[in-house]
Amino acid sequence: MKKRIILRFKRNTIDKPVVYRLVKDFDLVFNILRATILPRAESMMVMEIEGTEENFAKGIEYLRRLDVDTEPIEQDISRDETRCVHCGICTSVCAPEALHIDRNTMKVEFNYERCVACELCVRVCPVKAMNVFFE
Ligand code: SF4
Ligand code: SF4
Repeated sequence: MKKRIILRFKRNTIDKPVVYRLVKDFDLVFNILRATILPRAESMMVMEIEGTEENFAKGIEYLRRLDVDTEPIEQDISRDETRCVHCGICTSVCAPEALHIDRNTMKVEFNYERCVACELCVRVCPVKAMNVFFE
């Protein structure tokens, strides 16, 4: 399985070799998609993690024990469907094509599984339909 999650590190956990242990102890492959490291405040990392379901669950449990909060990316990034007017502007800034135009319906689809949480769509959306909650 492959999953994108958001990790939040409190000040006392940022210096721990968390990523190293995920690889070594739980055989998980990871890709850091975004990181905001603030030594004096809460830090945040968006990661894609790949491994067996069992190892993934053990890795998440390990992070919880370390007091690192984890959330699936879809919990923190969403589109307000009542606001979106399918203008397509966001698709021009979304490099991983998480936002793309369905040529059959001509509607803009949002696939959070491709999202890297760059927030560019939030800045360009004229009706503020894209929401990011992890700041
Ligand atoms: S820019 Fe905003 S309104 Fe336009 S398609 Fe994207 S989310 Fe919808
Ligand atoms: S935050 Fe928006 S622009 Fe960035 S990858 Fe996700 S959907 Fe695309």
